[in-house]
Amino acid sequence: MPFTAGTLLRRWVLWVLLVLLVLSMLSTLVWLAGRYEVSQVQSRSERDAADAVGDIRTALTRNVQSLQALQFADRSAVPWSQDAAGLLREHREWVRLEWRDADLNLLAAVDTPFRAPVFARMGRPARQPEIVQACGVARRQSGPGYGASNYVPLNNGLGLEIMDLCLPVITDGQLTGYTVASYSLQEVLVNMVGPQLTRSQEVSFTEADGTRLAMHGTPRRGSRIFTAKQLLDIPGHAMVLRMDSWRAAPDFFPNVLTALVTAMAIALVTVLTMLARDMRRRQRVELDLADALAFRKAMEDSLVTGLRARDSQGRITYVNPAFCEMVGFEAKELMGHGIPAPYWPPEMVDEYGMRQALRLAGNAPPREGVESVFMRKNGERFAVLIFEAPLINATGQQTGWMSAVLDISEQRRVEEVSRASQERLQATARLATVGEMASLLSHELNQPLAAISSYATGSLNLLQDAALEDAQLAESLGSAIQRIGQQAERAGKVIKSVHDFVRRRDQAREAVTPRALLDDVMPLVILQARKLGVRVDVRCALDLPAVLCDRTMVEQVLLNLSRNAMQAMGDDTPHKVLTLSVRPAASNAVSRWLEFTVADVGAGIPEAVAEKLFTPFFTTKAEGMGLGLSLCRTVVEQHGGFLSHRANQPRGTVFSFTLPQS
Ligand code: ADP
Repeated sequence: MPFTAGTLLRRWVLWVLLVLLVLSMLSTLVWLAGRYEVSQVQSRSERDAADAVGDIRTALTRNVQSLQALQFADRSAVPWSQDAAGLLREHREWVRLEWRDADLNLLAAVDTPFRAPVFARMGRPARQPEIVQACGVARRQSGPGYGASNYVPLNNGLGLEIMDLCLPVITDGQLTGYTVASYSLQEVLVNMVGPQLTRSQEVSFTEADGTRLAMHGTPRRGSRIFTAKQLLDIPGHAMVLRMDSWRAAPDFFPNVLTALVTAMAIALVTVLTMLARDMRRRQRVELDLADALAFRKAMEDSLVTGLRARDSQGRITYVNPAFCEMVGFEAKELMGHGIPAPYWPPEMVDEYGMRQALRLAGNAPPREGVESVFMRKNGERFAVLIFEAPLINATGQQTGWMSAVLDISEQRRVEEVSRASQERLQATARLATVGEMASLLSHELNQPLAAISSYATGSLNLLQDAALEDAQLAESLGSAIQRIGQQAERAGKVIKSVHDFVRRRDQAREAVTPRALLDDVMPLVILQARKLGVRVDVRCALDLPAVLCDRTMVEQVLLNLSRNAMQAMGDDTPHKVLTLSVRPAASNAVSRWLEFTVADVGAGIPEAVAEKLFTPFFTTKAEGMGLGLSLCRTVVEQHGGFLSHRANQPRGTVFSFTLPQS
């Protein structure tokens, strides 16, 4: 199939679509993998934040219990401040423990031993709003209450974010005071959040508006940040715990999955590119192949030699147009046809079958080709010359036979015609020799005949002298010798006419009376007529005008027509009569013509013969030359006349021709 622009365009569109699809699929995959990885990190952060909040809550509850233990301890045994100092040593998140009465007046306070007293610089008012708030909550809920965090500047220029816990002291159902523990938010993060959570991420407390209160954790290590926030809701106060984890940047291959997908994508794109390249090469090869095929087809179609391929079972696998034309079958009628082939003449099927079997058995055919006879679809037989060669496929195996078939029927016909004309030429040469011999013969015979004639005359003279003695004998001898003389003279005339006929070569036209023409050919016509037992009838008025003609040629025409007429009357003709007649032609009034007719009562001329009558070398006779009539017509037409023939009544043929009067 030839490649149209449409096919190429469609192919290109398909390719572009495929590439787009693959690319979009791959980028989606990579994007999804990245997103999945991000969501994994994010959810881990969320989990960590929740864990951290859980840790803090647990620790806060435990701390409340420790403080309660401080409240309920027997003060007579160990003073409060001693216990409180012990607790502070265990809890680094506390910076100070206070004991206050019900009106929040400070009764006792102990600072943490781990740092300089926090409130030393700014002091600590008894009714600090955060404490009032925390203790208000504690009183109302009879449990721990937390105050809002507040910033406490330190002596060293830094500061601390402090959050107060207020726990009511209930004695015998009466609120007798409060225990206030001040948390350093920074220390809360350090001591109350599991170290595994802060190892690789940063944890911080922020207010609802995002203001950072305290933070703890590793310093940032990447550019990409994942943030998780968790609300720490404790009685009286709420804070946000924020967890920040950092990722290295740029994170092109965030994890194995993405790397794998990316690698696969690259592999896919590479394969696609290779495929496209292969496709392009194939396309080029296909185009080349199509070109080669088109070239081969044009070549096969232009061949006049028939080509036919057969497989190893003798089935026809290929025929070219020349072969189809030769045998007259369509290609589809021949394709796949086995033995016997439809163009084998039925009478030859056995012989051809054997030849085919030999061929299939592996016997190589002769190189110079095999002559054979094929049959056209209309039944006509014709000669062919077949050259066969083994058909070898791409893997070098023989799959059948390829034959080149030449129609040699025309060549045969030409050979036949040339052979026939060769034979006729030889016959003509023989005839010419016969003519020469006849001429010589007539020349040679003339003298003895003249001698016989003169001897007869002499004898007659002598007899006349002797007649006086025996009159009767003399008379009878005399008449005998006279006859000898007459016969010799007649023979002389015959021979002379042969001689004249053969020798006369002058081409000039002359005025000749029809009578003279007939008289000239008559001896020769009569010679043949005698031999064939034909009676010759001449009808020629004596007063006919002369015709202007080439005498020799016209005599030849008369002779030919007479000879044909006599030969046409076979042995089965009852009364063989040849009629030669001359009369004025009636048709033409301007110039005057004479019509010569030669009529016979022979077999007549069949339709098929009549068609080819004047064709040179056409003859129905074994010894015929087929030149007579064509020559006659040429001669007559050269004289301006017309040669025709018609059927004679009741049988036979009439040939007639016209010649102009002089
Ligand atoms: P040839 O006499 O050598 O065969 P011609 O050209 O003279 O060649 O004649 C051609 C053929 O015409 C003859 O073979 C014969 O069959 C046919 N023919 C010619 N004249 C007559 C005739 N008078 N009657 C029947 N057939 C004739």
